[in-house]
Amino acid sequence: MTTLPFSQLPLSPAQLDNLASMGYLAMTPIQAQSLPVILAGRDLIAQAKTGSGKTAAFGLGILHRLDPARWAPQALVVCPTRELSEQVATELRRLARAAGNVKVLTLTGGASARPQNESLAHGAHVIVGTPGRLLDHLARQTLDLSAVSTLVLDEADRMVDMGFFPDVMQIAHACPYKRQTVLFSATYPESIRADAEHLLTDPEFVKVDAVH
Ligand code: ADP
Ligand code: MG
Repeated sequence: MTTLPFSQLPLSPAQLDNLASMGYLAMTPIQAQSLPVILAGRDLIAQAKTGSGKTAAFGLGILHRLDPARWAPQALVVCPTRELSEQVATELRRLARAAGNVKVLTLTGGASARPQNESLAHGAHVIVGTPGRLLDHLARQTLDLSAVSTLVLDEADRMVDMGFFPDVMQIAHACPYKRQTVLFSATYPESIRADAEHLLTDPEFVKVDAVH
């Protein structure tokens, strides 16, 4: 197993310190393969097992591009469930400690929409949410995705299994055409291939079997 240090990447000294304080000393295999592509701004389809560290892979990419001085959603992470959305948001908030005042907001079903609307009105940099609630906010015009420069589809295979992919497509079409799109999945079934690749531009493909 190769263990590459995060210091090989074009990350800020503050972020390298933050990663060390989180106990992240070496990149996991999926991070080592995907981060150079993500930080370069390329589209990516990455296949890796659960527990392999995919959140930090796309999270560091999001934060690398983000301008904290601009109070508009610049990144959108679409997840299949509320629980996964909360997990992703928690990890993004830990990574964002090194990036200044960054607001990460979850928009998921189960919670009432009204406080979400208030949070949106106050401004957020990163949105993490489930397809149904994201579409609700788009329909009510409480969510504006026109400043999104990074779109992440997390656990895409589960979103397909749950019948969410048409919703995901609709959400992607509400983002600017010119953006970075990153798709993470444990598997990459034929059933999503055509649709998914329609959402990405000239993607790189990465597949990692090892978890650590
Ligand atoms: P996945 O989304 O691939 O299932 P996660 O992003 O949830 O995986 O990460 C799985 C676990 O590994 C988490 O507990 C996370 O804190 C930890 N982790 C991620 N990257 C590293 C790293 N480079 N070094 C140590 N632990 C890590
Ligand atoms: Mg994950």
